[in-house]
Amino acid sequence: MSKKALGTAHWKRTRLSVLARDGWQCQYCGIHLDKTNAQVDHVESRVSGGSVFDQSNLLAACKKCNQSKGILKKELSESEALVKLICIW
Ligand SMILES: [Zn+2]
Repeated sequence: MSKKALGTAHWKRTRLSVLARDGWQCQYCGIHLDKTNAQVDHVESRVSGGSVFDQSNLLAACKKCNQSKGILKKELSESEALVKLICIW
């Protein structure tokens, strides 16, 4: 799986279906999401062996929750940081 995987049409479709599945609602704080704040969080990060495209590993999250979770990940790798950047609308 290359770092570019998240820039593909496959990822865009996956992200949209996760947001639709979760009703465009942040699964951490419950606020309504729209295109300005919607993100998709990898529950199990890629560096921990989490799947990028497996929807059971993905959750709709607002920008704020996703970023605060990201800060808590002390072992944030370079590729993970790239993933977070690409996930922003
Ligand atoms: Zn939130």
